[in-house]
Amino acid sequence: MLTVEGLEVYYGSIHAIKNISFEVNEGEIVTLIGANGAGKTTTLHAVCGLVKAADGGIHFCGTDLRAIAPYKILGLGLAQVPEGRRVFAKMTVQENLEMGAYIRRDKDQVEKDFQRVLERLPRLAERRKQLAGTLSGGEQQMLAIGRALMGNPRMLLLDEPSMGLSPLLVEEIFRIIEDVNRSGVTVLLVEQNAKKALEIADRAYVLETGSIAMSGAAAELANDEKVRKAYLGG
Ligand code: ATP
Repeated sequence: MLTVEGLEVYYGSIHAIKNISFEVNEGEIVTLIGANGAGKTTTLHAVCGLVKAADGGIHFCGTDLRAIAPYKILGLGLAQVPEGRRVFAKMTVQENLEMGAYIRRDKDQVEKDFQRVLERLPRLAERRKQLAGTLSGGEQQMLAIGRALMGNPRMLLLDEPSMGLSPLLVEEIFRIIEDVNRSGVTVLLVEQNAKKALEIADRAYVLETGSIAMSGAAAELANDEKVRKAYLGG
């Protein structure tokens, strides 16, 4: 569904991404794990067109993402949940969700999706009229996921959804991601919380200083000695 081949990204003279290739198949949860600064966010940003790839191929359902404007990517069915949630603080929960559907013309279906998102994320339903900036971190993360779902995506890109959340809320967010995946949305998950990410993912890629150091079935990587030492606390 998503294929990245030979990706290269530079920030000026910094070679941030070095010849990265990976793929995400329909229905999967795939995770990119790695330490701070390994290049996870840069890789996601390159997929979304937020940073320019110097080289490599990025294709989503056959469309060359490097050849189209970033704002058109959502229309192809690829939605992003950015790091730090980036909800619209001065808008209500409902308005934030509506923003997620702004490019859609199928307004009847949008209303149905709105109801579905509220059913899936009941905390948002309770807080529909509340300003997003007054929500807790976990609720803002739910809102960012709900807003992305309002684009009716085929695939979600999530950047560090567990960041800054308490263990209980991390559990809840990961349950939501699994639930969204079960409903038919393919997931690419970038995480520093390798333990949780490997628990829910089908496959994983380990990024180290801009390159893929290892890849494989998530369950196998979770049992790998090197991965355990470096990313799972021994
Ligand atoms: P984090 O978990 O901290 O977000 P990451 O794995 O997502 O880490 P990136 O943010 O993609 O890593 O960073 C990869 C490399 O690129 C790092 O060396 C980082 O310092 C560098 N980098 C990231 N953004 C920029 C930028 N805007 N300008 C210059 N260098 C950058």
